[in-house]
Amino acid sequence: MENSKNYKYLLNDISVLKRVGKKTKDLLKKKKIKNLFDVLWNLPHSYTDRTLEKKVNELEIGKICTVNLRVIKYNFPRIRNLPNKVVCEDDTGKLDIIFFNSREGYIRKILPLNQNVLISGKINYFKNRYQITNPTYLSLESQENNIKKILPNYSLTEGLSEKVYRNIIDQILQNLPKIDEWHLEETIKKNKFDKWNESIIKLHDPKNLDKTNANFYKRLVFDEILSNFILLSEIRKKIKKIKKKPKVFSNIKSIDIINSLKFELTKNQNKIIKEIDFDLKSKNKMFRLLQGDVGSGKTIIALICALNVIDSNYQVSVMAPTEILATQHYKLAKNLFRKLNIKIELLTGKIDRKKRKEILTNLKDQKIDILFGTHAIFQKNVLFKKLGLIIIDEQHKFGVKQRMSLSQKGGADCDILLMSATPIPRTLMMSVYGDMDISRLTEKPSNRKNVLTYSKPESKIEEIIRFIKKEIKLDNQVFWICPLINESKKIDHESAIKKHEFLEKVFPKKVGLIHGGLSKEDKENVLKLFLEKKFLILVSTTVIEVGIDIPNANIIIIENSNKFGLSQLHQLRGRVGRSNKQGVCILMYKKNLSQNARKRINILKSTNDGFVIADDDMKLRGYGDILGFKQSGIKDFKLADPVLHSKLFLLAEKEINKIEQLDINFNRYMPLLKLYDLADIINEIN
Ligand code: ADP
Ligand code: MG
Repeated sequence: MENSKNYKYLLNDISVLKRVGKKTKDLLKKKKIKNLFDVLWNLPHSYTDRTLEKKVNELEIGKICTVNLRVIKYNFPRIRNLPNKVVCEDDTGKLDIIFFNSREGYIRKILPLNQNVLISGKINYFKNRYQITNPTYLSLESQENNIKKILPNYSLTEGLSEKVYRNIIDQILQNLPKIDEWHLEETIKKNKFDKWNESIIKLHDPKNLDKTNANFYKRLVFDEILSNFILLSEIRKKIKKIKKKPKVFSNIKSIDIINSLKFELTKNQNKIIKEIDFDLKSKNKMFRLLQGDVGSGKTIIALICALNVIDSNYQVSVMAPTEILATQHYKLAKNLFRKLNIKIELLTGKIDRKKRKEILTNLKDQKIDILFGTHAIFQKNVLFKKLGLIIIDEQHKFGVKQRMSLSQKGGADCDILLMSATPIPRTLMMSVYGDMDISRLTEKPSNRKNVLTYSKPESKIEEIIRFIKKEIKLDNQVFWICPLINESKKIDHESAIKKHEFLEKVFPKKVGLIHGGLSKEDKENVLKLFLEKKFLILVSTTVIEVGIDIPNANIIIIENSNKFGLSQLHQLRGRVGRSNKQGVCILMYKKNLSQNARKRINILKSTNDGFVIADDDMKLRGYGDILGFKQSGIKDFKLADPVLHSKLFLLAEKEINKIEQLDINFNRYMPLLKLYDLADIINEIN
């Protein structure tokens, strides 16, 4: 194979390599390896160090050792669940190799009778004999394995031998193309990054297995993060290029409304309203995310901006994830704008056909100014005459691609405002939302006190009941959250139905029940009764997690709290403490908390700041589980880890700002994007 000079060499199918036929190709496909570049990211999980090679009579029990052994006998029991055994020896003694879950044919192939193999693994001693269970192994037929002292071990699919695979990776590493540096010289120097090829070679050198902080590793991590940011930056630029008719409005009406509020807007809220106004009045389409913790007061911002859009003679649509929430927003708008001549409608699944038709006709005639509904409702055949703003509440389930198609919704003149109450760690901000402009609402309304958070074991239920009796006398209301709807034989968690029965006996006629098994109407009915204080306690599953605003409820009890994730607990807790009453959250648990659960509970007790909680959550769970990240459309990072490499994420953020400001030609990064498989998305948007 010619030593290719160009990065494109790495985009070749693996079948261009010597000795790679269809069989090997199909096997590698199972490991998601298609081209040469993919191979580079299948890293060794361990290595066999032949300098540590021992004879059987020198082995130490409990240690990981490497032995050169001859295979002398197989033992394949025909009884299920008994492991397969291979007896091996060297000139000092015998050793058994034990395989669980490996088939006979496979074992015969990797450990051929009467041949020598290099075996590594943890040494056990059983029935007077040394043994190794599920070892790593290397055939000693190949010359090379006999010469190299340190040999990497890869995780491979069955049927693919170590020998074949090592040949593949060696062919690629020996032919690595010289790549024109895509990073700025300054960046390379300042961070002491190695060159790309050097980095790759070092990455595959078994000695460097754990060096996730070395310069070569950091360079590759930086490549990965930056390619991602460049993609998002290109998308943002592209959306910004869309020209629209600027909206023209006076703010007189919105100032009136703001003055009529029972509270004063915070500085932060005012600043964001100005930011959005600026976007609305600009010649470029707005694509903005309003991110703010639960209860930080996003809705009022959205409605004030909606009013300005209506004032400039455009229509507005507001989408919420649930009907309950859409209805709540609708009612709030009705009330807020009651003195103005604004036509407000609600489109939900339960509206009858006649009314629906009327709404659709009126939308087309611009006889409706603002329409509320769920995300689903707006998908088809809802046509506006002059849509000027789409507001999407509680959006965190969209990925980059969905947002891209969203950005085109409503036509060129339509601005878009997304709102999310899911704080994500600072390090991930750009990776998840880099394609949008972001307004962060970090200040809470001043009347808001922190929710006091306690933890109590289940055995203290009597104490909690006494506390609730007292609170109810003070006209306060209570959410009581259970993880299950119904009792389960398998999981020992509290069920909403059972808890409702129990509480109903203590507080007759005062307890409502709501869960995902109820019809939409029933759910809304129960919430209505709770809002009207017909019920004082509402037993619920996590259906109330998203967005519901019942200011008078100031107490939340969460059963089996150790079973919920940090962010989810924070969301649930956000249902209370929404008025000037002191909010209280009681986290209940069965005894024997795991260490991790104890940490989560302590974090919640110590802070009410969703951004801090998101950071801690990521540190506890790793980034893979963080809400919104999985759905963000960003492929899993190969090396980058937001917990380990948080500094590099922030560095890449600075870099992308610099690239944008200096307007650096994007072509220099093309190889980077091509290799990381991001160029397609960019082509799609161009
Ligand atoms: P979220 O940001 O979670 O959507 P909401 O918009 O539902 O929060 O607001 C929560 C509550 O706070 C609402 O009852 C709202 O009327 C109230 N609120 C909003 N802004 C302020 C403010 N500046 N001062 C006092 N209360 C406010
Ligand atoms: Mg909200």
